[in-house]
Amino acid sequence: MRQIFLAWRLGAWLLALGLALPGAAHARDPVQVRLIGINDLHGNLETTNLVLFLADPGAPPDAPQLRVQVGGAAALAGMVRKLRAGAPNSFMLAGGDLIGAAPLISTLFKHESTIEILNDIGLEVSSLGNHEFDGGEKELQRIIRGGCAATVPEGAVASCVQSPYKGARFKYIAANVIDAKGRHIVAPYVIKRFKGIPVGFIGGVTKTTPQMVVPSGIAGLKFLDEADAVNRAVVQLRAKGVKAMVAIFHEGIELGTSQKRGDWNDLTCPDAHGPLLDIARRLAPEIKVIFSGHTHQGYRCEIEGRLLIQGTSYGRGISVVDIALDPVKRTMLPPVRSFNLAVLNEKTDPAHREKLAAAAPDPFAAVLRDSTPDAAIAEKVARYAVLSAPKAERAVGRIAGPFTRTGKADSSAGRLIADAQLAATRADGAQFAFMNPGGIRANIECASPPCTVTFGHAFTMQPFGNSLVVMTLTGAQLKALLESQHRTTTGDPKFLQPSAEFAYTWQSDAPPGERVRDMRLNGEPVEPAKSYRVTVNSFLAEGGDTFDILAEGTDRKGGLQDLDALIAYLGAEERAPVATPRITRLP
Ligand SMILES: [Zn+2]
Repeated sequence: MRQIFLAWRLGAWLLALGLALPGAAHARDPVQVRLIGINDLHGNLETTNLVLFLADPGAPPDAPQLRVQVGGAAALAGMVRKLRAGAPNSFMLAGGDLIGAAPLISTLFKHESTIEILNDIGLEVSSLGNHEFDGGEKELQRIIRGGCAATVPEGAVASCVQSPYKGARFKYIAANVIDAKGRHIVAPYVIKRFKGIPVGFIGGVTKTTPQMVVPSGIAGLKFLDEADAVNRAVVQLRAKGVKAMVAIFHEGIELGTSQKRGDWNDLTCPDAHGPLLDIARRLAPEIKVIFSGHTHQGYRCEIEGRLLIQGTSYGRGISVVDIALDPVKRTMLPPVRSFNLAVLNEKTDPAHREKLAAAAPDPFAAVLRDSTPDAAIAEKVARYAVLSAPKAERAVGRIAGPFTRTGKADSSAGRLIADAQLAATRADGAQFAFMNPGGIRANIECASPPCTVTFGHAFTMQPFGNSLVVMTLTGAQLKALLESQHRTTTGDPKFLQPSAEFAYTWQSDAPPGERVRDMRLNGEPVEPAKSYRVTVNSFLAEGGDTFDILAEGTDRKGGLQDLDALIAYLGAEERAPVATPRITRLP
């Protein structure tokens, strides 16, 4: 005992002199930590038909990409377990949008299914995403802390179906969301120690969140500049002696077309652009690694000495960054290695698996080659699928062709939803309807018509649970509303999808304010001073998607849930996709 003590004293003394006992040399080795990141899961728990298009390793650059079957919580869990097994220290984190805009298996259970499964997979921290606010801040706090949700009319969604919901075991973080009193609504950061060395993980969510969620749900909240807020957290962490820091943003970059077709592990990221680039350039120097999300793209970029990484979305990819910590200075050394891995599942073509494994660096080749879905997670997902199946598979109508979200301005899916919303509110005096394109979350496919539409199809297309609102706008307000469609971050207009009665021409090359021409309702010109009754969903009615003018609509009358309107419309008669656009887009 005494000898050990003496040896320890001697060791400590030598260490203080910058020397070391031969047998204790490992004490000065860098501490290796594996960071395992996911982002934008959006409740995609089941192994469905999700794919990733990846460059064919070894093939010429212009060769067709591999269409790789990926995803599912069980496959994700299996891969995370393998990654953890291969590292002395590991930490799992996420870049937000874990819930919201999700398939039935998540939405039907108020996303409790997704949070419980992420608890089981071992997620430790996630930044908030804009979709975490889809149900408002109060509902977000319930998701975090646990407790059962109030039952929605007609039992459309179910809370606490298996057992009392206990909340997230991982921490949600965001440095840039504060309430009216200036308090953070979740912790700005967490500190995790690896062999005694503290690492700060700081969260941030896109400051554009208020433009994407129902305004009443976030009333009183402020979404501050991301870089400023994270840098304030850095100052606090410094005061606590933390020198190694990682940022997790629910914000991302966009890749140029040259890389979109290429390799999501190409460090050069030619012509990358987007909000996170500017944010990253303004961050404190301690932040060497940035996990990201929101843009649903796969990339790994080295930009001005920092690593920016994202693994697409829907649990299709995992971003791994192996870092090393200096045991003396307690700082982060440059990342040892990083890699985006496809979440290969039981549907993955074995030839694809082999190709991707052969091209991956050690130690990721073995992870890709040998990972298997986690049986316990698969069973838990299956149990939720069984609970949702009777509801999901119930037939609600028939269609004569596919309804898709693609179109130059309006789409067949958009036309369907707008027509359904008008049909549901015509008795309230509505003359036409507008639907926001971002709220149409999926196509309804129909390969060999006629096809049966199930509750699951309709739900996946319209998962937000908005109600309908009929309001009065003047012709002048309608013109201003439609002119405001050009204001988007991506540069492409966000066209409100009109019902059959409403038509106009969009002149793309005209100056702002002069692009909307020839507005007609039932073939008659829309007059600026005249009043019109329009139906929109409650998200738009509050000025969502920056359509502020809709918040000014008068004589409001609430209607059905959007999903109920769609189901009623599909159930009334067989519906055929309308091929003719209602917005004539020129040139
Ligand atoms: Zn997002």
